[in-house]
Amino acid sequence: MRLNGTTIGLGENARVNLNVYYLPTGAKMEIPVYVFRAKKKGPSVLFMAGMHGDETNGIEIMRNLLKEKHLENLERGSVVAIPITNVVSFLNRSRDLPDGRDLNRCFPGTRSGSLGSRIAYDLTKKILPIIDFGVDFHTGGAEINNYPQVRCFFDNEKSFDLARSFGAPFIVNSAYREKSLRKESSRLGKPILVYEAGESFRFSKVGISEGMNGCLRLMKNLKMLDVSTPKPQSITLTGSKWIRARISGLFRTSKKFGTYVEKDQILGVVSSPYAELERPLIAPVDGFLIGINNKPVVNEGDALIHIGTE
Ligand SMILES: [Zn+2]
Repeated sequence: MRLNGTTIGLGENARVNLNVYYLPTGAKMEIPVYVFRAKKKGPSVLFMAGMHGDETNGIEIMRNLLKEKHLENLERGSVVAIPITNVVSFLNRSRDLPDGRDLNRCFPGTRSGSLGSRIAYDLTKKILPIIDFGVDFHTGGAEINNYPQVRCFFDNEKSFDLARSFGAPFIVNSAYREKSLRKESSRLGKPILVYEAGESFRFSKVGISEGMNGCLRLMKNLKMLDVSTPKPQSITLTGSKWIRARISGLFRTSKKFGTYVEKDQILGVVSSPYAELERPLIAPVDGFLIGINNKPVVNEGDALIHIGTE
């Protein structure tokens, strides 16, 4: 395996820096990539986090994974691990890049494009060739708290099998987004699952432990690791629907995350701060609450509750 000029043989481990960018101070911004290779050939799996700089749960999952001593003694195959993909946004405590672009809408990227496009280009040219498939760790954005779930496109059988091997509480059917890493990697026949758990800037205990268990389970199912992992009880969701605020005001819900609700059930309420107006949020379908907005002040049209349907 060759990564950015470094050769990593079977049975070897390495840390390789992808050097993409110089900060305005002249300091070099490096993306550390950890590679673990077994003596025996096998699948090459990518685990990556921090595509969005404010999504810390994935970074914590990666830290837990790097602590996992088994990785240094894989039974077969390789693991490529990128704990913080978007280093400059992580430093800026921001989801997006300094120019406002979303790195996950810059793929496959170009050598001379925007900063995001250059980072995406490096990942496309240097990381995707050395992996067979992977998992990209995210959290909800804009104060949306996501119940641990993997997103994949059910039409892609390879990707659905991968999701079942990972075994998150929910497996959600999700079409590809234009210019995303997931779309680019699927085009190359290398499915990458998107794992979503919790919200930005907040550690979610369940999100971190489910993510870690998923990584171990996936490697165990691929016969790369001999570990014991909790049995998964994944619920497959073929569709999902957002419920949006009908008026602006203060949002409250007492519904529990991850639970099942029935059509026409009241899920929460948006009230005007002066107690003049109140609008209930009504479930349009039967389903599971896979995402809930945590911000009390909302505008009409804001996405408040995400329901996954079987
Ligand atoms: Zn994200």
